[in-house]
Amino acid sequence: MGHRLGFHLLASEGRARRGRFATSHGVVDTPAFMPVGTQGAVKTVLARDVADTGAQVVLANTYHLSLEDRTELVERAGGLHRFMAWERTILTDSGGFQVFSLPGKEVAEEGVSFPGGKGQPRLFLDPEGSMEIQRRLGADIVMAFDECCDWDASKEYTQQSVERTARWARRCSRVPLADHQFLFGIVQGGVHQDLRKRSANQLKELDLPGYAIGGVSVGEGHELMTAVTTWTAPLLPEEKPRYLMGVGLPEDILSAVEQGMDMFDCVIPTRYARGGTLFTRLGKLRITDRRYRYDDSALDSKCGCYTCKHYTRMVLRHLHYAREPLFATLCSIHNLQHYQDLMAGIRGALELGRFADFAAGWRRKASGGDAGPEDGGARRSRRAGKHDGGRAKHS
Ligand SMILES: [Zn+2]
Repeated sequence: MGHRLGFHLLASEGRARRGRFATSHGVVDTPAFMPVGTQGAVKTVLARDVADTGAQVVLANTYHLSLEDRTELVERAGGLHRFMAWERTILTDSGGFQVFSLPGKEVAEEGVSFPGGKGQPRLFLDPEGSMEIQRRLGADIVMAFDECCDWDASKEYTQQSVERTARWARRCSRVPLADHQFLFGIVQGGVHQDLRKRSANQLKELDLPGYAIGGVSVGEGHELMTAVTTWTAPLLPEEKPRYLMGVGLPEDILSAVEQGMDMFDCVIPTRYARGGTLFTRLGKLRITDRRYRYDDSALDSKCGCYTCKHYTRMVLRHLHYAREPLFATLCSIHNLQHYQDLMAGIRGALELGRFADFAAGWRRKASGGDAGPEDGGARRSRRAGKHDGGRAKHS
């Protein structure tokens, strides 16, 4: 490889790390949260709005941008940065996760075939194909094509998929990328500590610029996810960024930072926003609740986002019931700002050596809110299994 991201650790506290790396599209301060722009757009918001929240990197999905003639469209537009009107860093997923969640897929050593939909012929994706698509899309960070098996698959099958993921990662590493692109490997191994260790060790041999933990937030629940992160994070190279894929709720991100993870992505802030669940410093709230009908306070009085500066809870609630598309935009801007503020708070606390205090204070405050930490609809839908997990699939 010889191709380095130049990740620098600026501070640490316990296992938690404050770091920084740069791509040819700018600096990424870690711990970092990446808003999800599945099909080349963060749903309902302008790229400018996403940039205004302070996000330095966004994620787009190879699977969605490979269907029909979309990769060619992106190329004709001059690459994904221009396609998304986003000048900062972009990461593309490999498509593996989406393909493995499709009914009717068939996994073989060469790759995965899956239904093309609506009377179309079956499609095929393999490690070389995923790399080629990601090279053409032009993201700064590209992910290895992995097999993400079900978290409750047998241990025997999970072991096979770990071995295959390692062989596929090696195939990915042989495919030439553009000069500005960096390949991250994905550690699999389900909920088995020994398999996670094996997967991490296999991938480390490839000396890739960064590493991710995959196969989490796929229905296994908070406790198992935390266990997998706790085992796996210390196995990853200290001098490279560590990315926890598809996670998650703010409290999950905070816990994972404590375990030494650096990068996160999730559809939760934007998906919850469209459904009316909003994050505040005092916990989540459901804007549809009657108690907000005449509430002329801001969503979160300490938030500096456009929504909190210009709209009140009662107006947002009205926009929801009036089915105004603006509702989704305003709420997405706010939730994305909330996530970026959390990450900035974490980074600032790490720099001052006050992260433990920050985490304790954050947890104490965020346990309020009408939706509460165990909010029914929102939390259930996240846990409903692999078809509504944290990682973006078809939504
Ligand atoms: Zn706000």
